[in-house]
Amino acid sequence: MIGVTVLGSTGSIGVNTLDVIAQHPAQYRAVALTANRNVERLFEQCVAHHPDYAVMCDVDAAEQLQQKIQLAGLTTQVLAGVEGLEKVATLAQCEQVMAAIVGAAGLLPTLAAARAGKRVLLANKEALVMSGQLFMDAVREHGAALLPIDSEHNAIFQCMPPRFSALESDGIEQILLTGSGGPFRTVAPEALVDVTPAQACAHPNWVMGRKISVDSATMMNKGLELIEACWIFAAPAEKIQIVVHPQSIIHSMVEYIDGSVLAQMGSPDMRIPIAHAMAWPQRMSSGVERLNLFDIARLDFERPDDARFPCLRLAREVAEQGGTAAAVLNAANEVAVEAFLEERLRFTDISRVIEATLADVSAQVATTLATILQADADAREVAQRHVSGLKIK
Ligand code: NAD
Ligand code: MG
Repeated sequence: MIGVTVLGSTGSIGVNTLDVIAQHPAQYRAVALTANRNVERLFEQCVAHHPDYAVMCDVDAAEQLQQKIQLAGLTTQVLAGVEGLEKVATLAQCEQVMAAIVGAAGLLPTLAAARAGKRVLLANKEALVMSGQLFMDAVREHGAALLPIDSEHNAIFQCMPPRFSALESDGIEQILLTGSGGPFRTVAPEALVDVTPAQACAHPNWVMGRKISVDSATMMNKGLELIEACWIFAAPAEKIQIVVHPQSIIHSMVEYIDGSVLAQMGSPDMRIPIAHAMAWPQRMSSGVERLNLFDIARLDFERPDDARFPCLRLAREVAEQGGTAAAVLNAANEVAVEAFLEERLRFTDISRVIEATLADVSAQVATTLATILQADADAREVAQRHVSGLKIK
């Protein structure tokens, strides 16, 4: 029986992970579940999965959950705060940690899982974008395994040779990172200034949390994924080409020096990468509908439009720069996206806040966690000021 801790179990990835676990009750068990403050959903998940631990980040929410668990006669132990998250990410009975908290809040528990030598199923791309080398070093030094859940990175992983070592020695020419282009791929650029959070969150192919949905609409999601891919596959940014593929059937490709291009295809359903990463190097069923190529009939590809999506350019600059620049980019993006979702900032000002923050917060060498967390904090403060300056009156 393989024990799985699901960090962020009440979110979109968390729910899909529990769905896959429930399909394989003889092989997998949820040993710990965590959420920010959604008491009702975490309680329902505890009733269904009987985890050893449940963690709520919010202390009041933890108390409410504790009462419900007691009333229901469950044996699940309730913990609170970041300490609780770090504890359940490192439990002896857990072999795999699904890192599915959104944003920088996931960094500490995800890093703790790597340092405890777990198999880290990485959905929380922001954690890796922020900590880069530090995270990859932790994985190597502690004998952890890093399995990508982001569908593109999972696809690239599947198209790599079984014992991937480095692009050059494995005969890899480049990585083709695909993206749908989001809901605004064909909207007139001058109309983007007025788009609403609801429009930005209506992704054409994927159902996801609100933050990553906005990131998909600005294409910052692809920018973060570019940085994520640089770390996971030890690839310089110029070896990663972004390809817009509106149908989201091919999830990414690897091009070899002999001209072969390997692609991974599948329905746009996150249970495929989740089941792949949990079962690797074996395979197991995911419950996902089979691809019907006759219904799909055609696949399209386009060059990304950097003028329409300035976040792509910013992310590429940051990927080339290195150091704490990526933590600054990520923090500024989180602040700007939150402001947009709360209707305090225009959609088109998201990239302006990020660019201005990158200009104001100078990048440092990112060798320690303290330096990275300081860059994150500084960037948040500066970004908030830029949001106030651009605020919708
Ligand atoms: P979501 O908003 O649906 O869920 C986020 C989860 O994190 C929830 O369980 C929430 O309770 C928890 N959380 C939020 N803030 C927290 C905090 N401050 N402290 C502790 N827990 C907190 O998000 P999602 O769509 O499931 O995405 C999760 C991560 O996976 C993100 O990093 C996203 O980029 C990545 N990802 C998601 C998808 C997808 O299809 N949804 C695909 C690829 C990658
Ligand atoms: Mg992705």
